[in-house]
Amino acid sequence: MVKIIKKYIPTFYRSLRPAYSMNPEYITIHNTANASKGANAEMHSRYLLNGGGGRGASWHFTVDDKEIYQHLPTNENGWHAGDGANGSGNRKSIGIEICENADGDFEKAVANAQWLVRKLLDDHDLSIDRVVPHKHWSGKNCPRKLLSRFDDFKDGVFKSASKETQVKSATTESVSVSTVSTSDKGKRVESIYRGSEGINFYKEPSFDNPVGSFSYGMGWTIRKKIKVGKSEMYEVENSKGAVYYITAREDLVKVADNKPNFTVPTVNLVYGSKGKQVGYLQEILKYYGFYKGALDNSYGPLMVAAVKAFQRDRGILVDGKAGPQTRKEISKVA
Ligand SMILES: [Zn+2]
Repeated sequence: MVKIIKKYIPTFYRSLRPAYSMNPEYITIHNTANASKGANAEMHSRYLLNGGGGRGASWHFTVDDKEIYQHLPTNENGWHAGDGANGSGNRKSIGIEICENADGDFEKAVANAQWLVRKLLDDHDLSIDRVVPHKHWSGKNCPRKLLSRFDDFKDGVFKSASKETQVKSATTESVSVSTVSTSDKGKRVESIYRGSEGINFYKEPSFDNPVGSFSYGMGWTIRKKIKVGKSEMYEVENSKGAVYYITAREDLVKVADNKPNFTVPTVNLVYGSKGKQVGYLQEILKYYGFYKGALDNSYGPLMVAAVKAFQRDRGILVDGKAGPQTRKEISKVA
């Protein structure tokens, strides 16, 4: 395990952190091209936290021979691939910079990056063919020290895997996981926590390494309640059937009754639409935590924002309008 230190670029540096939502499909490998002494991961973190020299370049992780700094959450894009504002490199890939500082051990930094790549492939259900050099997107000679042996780099990702698995099983052994009850199976558990940071959710039955958070009113479907060490968690699935784990603490979540019988809107709706059909859509979007406004049968700015958030979540065109494609997705969750 390599330590990952999270120091996210503040959102006020909009040119570095546009906060466009991203569902990563690729991992892009870079070299820093900075061989100076001291040009390690921590130095690159400070550089980004101070505005990145006005270059408008940003990426997700910098790896050196000792540690990893994370600069952006992996569900937001950075500007590192040189393939334009809408390029897949910039908008769909996680950027990793590998340090080449003269006072560091480059091969160790490469091994740490391989470990990180393996973890990200697992976290995002990606295959190794999705790991590409910066050159793939823009033709730039980067990662300059790895291009001639990029296939070996990828092979090494799986060698680091066996070590990682050992670490993982060693940590799971120390925390016992057992089923408490399945009586709430199929019911919805939702957040009743109003803090802006939300409630963490996890890919494993453990309170380590959250993969995201959800806000007040958002909820998922219970599969079972489990005991993890001394604490309880719900094993839940989201509307797409992906399984996650969240706390079962009663001050943070509540179990709601079964899903109401929603009515799916039968007409296209846009900003300015009014009437019952809008109300149907509001009820569904509110239930899933996308809509924060009143149930007033009126398609205002909060509805546009809610529909956009829903569209992003479903991976369809984000335009804030409830057209045929969006209504079809709505019918799947209603
Ligand atoms: Zn690069």
